[in-house]
Amino acid sequence: MIARSESDDRCDVAIIGAGPAGSVAALELARAGLDVVVIDKTEFPRFRIGESMLPHAQRLMEELDLMDRVRSLPHMVKRGLEIEFGDGRREPAAISFEEMFGDGLKQTFNIRRSIFDRMIADAAAEAGARYRFGESVRTFESIEHGDVRMTLDGGRLRADWVIDASGQACVLARHLGTKRFLPGFRNVSYFEHYEGVLRNSGDRDGFATLAMCREGWFWLIPIDEKTTSIGAVIDGELSKSIPVPADQRLTWCLENCPAMAQRMSDATGPDRNQVVGDFSYTCDRHADAGWFMVGDAAAFIDPVWSTGVSLGLEGGVHAARRILDVAAGRMRPRAATRAHHARISGLRGTFMNLIRNFYDHSFRELIVRGDGPLGVHRAVVNMLAGEVFRKVPFSVRWRWDLMKGLREFNRFRPLNERIRPHSLLQSGGVGLPSPNAGVSRAVPRRRIGEPSWQSH
Ligand SMILES: Cc1cc2nc3c(=O)[nH]c(=O)nc-3n(C[C@H](O)[C@H](O)[C@H](O)COP(=O)(O)OP(=O)(O)OC[C@H]3O[C@@H](n4cnc5c(N)ncnc54)[C@H](O)[C@@H]3O)c2cc1C
Repeated sequence: MIARSESDDRCDVAIIGAGPAGSVAALELARAGLDVVVIDKTEFPRFRIGESMLPHAQRLMEELDLMDRVRSLPHMVKRGLEIEFGDGRREPAAISFEEMFGDGLKQTFNIRRSIFDRMIADAAAEAGARYRFGESVRTFESIEHGDVRMTLDGGRLRADWVIDASGQACVLARHLGTKRFLPGFRNVSYFEHYEGVLRNSGDRDGFATLAMCREGWFWLIPIDEKTTSIGAVIDGELSKSIPVPADQRLTWCLENCPAMAQRMSDATGPDRNQVVGDFSYTCDRHADAGWFMVGDAAAFIDPVWSTGVSLGLEGGVHAARRILDVAAGRMRPRAATRAHHARISGLRGTFMNLIRNFYDHSFRELIVRGDGPLGVHRAVVNMLAGEVFRKVPFSVRWRWDLMKGLREFNRFRPLNERIRPHSLLQSGGVGLPSPNAGVSRAVPRRRIGEPSWQSH
């Protein structure tokens, strides 16, 4: 046994990470009267990518009584998404949540993460959770139920349970050696926030836009009245052929994509972009004696359908409720952690399936068509809106199976026009915008059809 020192702290539940997954868990537990300590190595507010939500995120915000706080912050109402091809020659295909089967929630929101994450942390702190910002979890001495001991920068912390919500740092999985990268998803992403981006108006003003190219895809997400989150996800191998340093590649990619360049023609933003790679992985187990993993600390696959934060919120709430079940004697600890592992791995599998479809040209060709027999398109909207957290109705399930059949058929007997996406790397040389100190024009004014682009 390690002797307790003056700097030792003791609580019921220790949570590593104050992102959405960690803070909703803290909120649920603190509201139920448990003593919760949340440790985060950063000071808030801090930047995070991942601003576009699924309708399930709004459902959880309402359930947790946080939706009025969301509404009081700058945000955009999101009623769907659109998919376009990088050559900019076709109208984007709209996927409106209104078309979904059932009477579920048909909207959600996009929001700047620094303010969103802080809002949830504030709510949890008001409920009694103790936050220790600017402190890192360094090692674990024990992770048994009733005997969790960890070393932080500022001393030791003891708890009955630990919830790892440390995001891509995967603190616990690294300790246990259970983090595995996903073959086939070795991508890299470049992203930044811009103002003055040409965005949709009317009902589509909060739509997330995806633009596909041969080497990857772009996102365009309006996050408040002025600011737009712009990013590119590029195949890791192909990214090595981009002839500029990693922190300048977003501008390069935008310039070489006609559809995006047009949207960015009057945009202003930073000269350099942020970069993240190796973000697709899973951990072997998501809970066991004494611990739970939630959010990105458990798994992250790919940002394409904006599933990350919603999955994190669901995981945080789920772990907290299992701990409360044990505390109330409704569940045994082993059953609680088994239930959490099953829940997270089930959702991960479903989302993996959806994400694989996006990277399948046959599926993409069918969804941009925008209709299909027997209402199959509407069922696809249910799935792409992430309405899989509750039982998926039979009306959606059989149509989704039909869609998978059509996808296979389309591979061999085209049901829709074959679309060969635009290539960024083969689009011809371009000049970079002159780097100014501070804010610069993101992409020089250029129009589709000017000679530096070559469409395919
Ligand atoms: C390129 C890209 C685009 C994305 N776009 C979207 C999107 O549009 N929509 C969406 O829903 N999701 C998106 N995601 C996913 C989203 O970013 C994550 O799923 C989400 O941030 C996970 O939240 P979390 O609470 O699990 O972790 P985080 O929000 O990452 O929080 C983890 C916290 O843990 C802290 N921490 C880490 N290590 C330690 C330590 N040792 N000690 C103490 N604290 C520690 C960190 O400081 C951090 O604050 C995207 C991801 C990527 C890579």
